[in-house]
Amino acid sequence: MFEGLTGRLGDIFDRLTRRGALSEEDVGAALREVRIALLEADVALPVVKQFIAGVKEKAVGAEVLRSVTPGQMVVKIVHDHLVEMLGSVSEGINLEAAAPVPVLMVGLQGSGKTTSTAKIALRLKTRERKKVLMASLDTRRPAAQEQLKILGEQVQVATLPIVPGQQPVEIAKRAMLMGRTEGYDVVMLDTAGRLAIDDELMAEVASVRDATKPAETLLVVDAMTGQDAVTVATNFQDRVGITGIVLTRIDGDARGGAALSMRQITGKPIKLLGVGEKVDALEAFHPDRIAGRILG
Ligand code: GDP
Repeated sequence: MFEGLTGRLGDIFDRLTRRGALSEEDVGAALREVRIALLEADVALPVVKQFIAGVKEKAVGAEVLRSVTPGQMVVKIVHDHLVEMLGSVSEGINLEAAAPVPVLMVGLQGSGKTTSTAKIALRLKTRERKKVLMASLDTRRPAAQEQLKILGEQVQVATLPIVPGQQPVEIAKRAMLMGRTEGYDVVMLDTAGRLAIDDELMAEVASVRDATKPAETLLVVDAMTGQDAVTVATNFQDRVGITGIVLTRIDGDARGGAALSMRQITGKPIKLLGVGEKVDALEAFHPDRIAGRILG
């Protein structure tokens, strides 16, 4: 079973005599444990290295406060650095554009994209009193558009009527037109996913982006995918451009390392967390909670 980082570091520092400031040697021993903790939490290796270097810079020479042990001091420095790297503020959905504001949802199939679309729509409706229209652009899986319609009925948010045979860009344009003519504040566009990244998917998503000019392009990623999350995030960032991340299945036992990797590699904020299958299982991102989870 995983032993928390605080406990591990406590053991190391119990063996050291207390000194006024943390030495390079003390910090080195502690950072080996931090490195293991991060790798166990599924943080990508380049990100682990970068993180460790940042902590080292802050920790070596730091005065140990009277009220804490050297171990607790290092844990505090590690924790604070992690929160900083995760992005200290929880950012909301950006709706700073002329109505109807297009919000594009992208990601792999099964990541929780359609569910998250409905969850965000419900949140914008109830918390921000927005009139939201949802449209599924998934023309490959016949059940996908129907799935969004059912979710729409459940959360009582309008969905674009289904017209069989239309292509994603045409559907997106029709959604924006309906959004304009019927006075919607937000149009959420749920794009198709694939099991893996492929050129066709990227080209399709990019053409929808060009046709709608979204205020937000949210990448939905399953927290359980760990290391793969980085590949997915890099591809969507380079080929489509994303503005934020929605991390799903945080209710599972993933340690959340994907959050740190994606934030570092894309530089984009994690905006929301999916915490269950129900339509209201969506939470704002709190870096300190994820930091605690990553450190164990
Ligand atoms: P899509 O293919 O990306 O659109 O994925 P779906 O939205 O259809 O979700 C796939 C499955 O994951 C469904 O059974 C959802 O109920 C489930 N799911 C989505 N988000 C979460 C979450 O945050 N936690 C859990 N436990 N399940 C989720």
